[in-house]
Amino acid sequence: MIQKKFVCIRCPIGCNLTVKKYESGKIVVSGNSCKRGEEYGIQEVTEPRRTITTIKQTKTGSISLKTDIPAKKEQYFDILKEIERKRVNKQFEIGDIFIKNVLGTKTNIVVTGVHEEK
Ligand code: SF4
Repeated sequence: MIQKKFVCIRCPIGCNLTVKKYESGKIVVSGNSCKRGEEYGIQEVTEPRRTITTIKQTKTGSISLKTDIPAKKEQYFDILKEIERKRVNKQFEIGDIFIKNVLGTKTNIVVTGVHEEK
């Protein structure tokens, strides 16, 4: 049996979760106050995901970027590298897709802010 402890980040309460994963594959979550916490605990031991946010320099300033859905935690650095690699050769507006289906993950990188230097 593997036991892990997490703080649930699905709401500001931040319940302390204990997740036990048995050899049989059964997963038991305790410490949660609601179903969302149980789902989060199970996801953390099976396929942890994170929302990625970053800033990319442009010729005229910078743009803020964010994944539209949380990406697998193991792909975090590869996605950041892909964002860094992509050339910025046009003007972006908030809501534009900067990279569609990044690395085949079905996650889009969207523009959440445009910052022009004066
Ligand atoms: S278990 Fe429920 S109440 Fe507790 S932090 Fe997670 S979402 Fe919030």
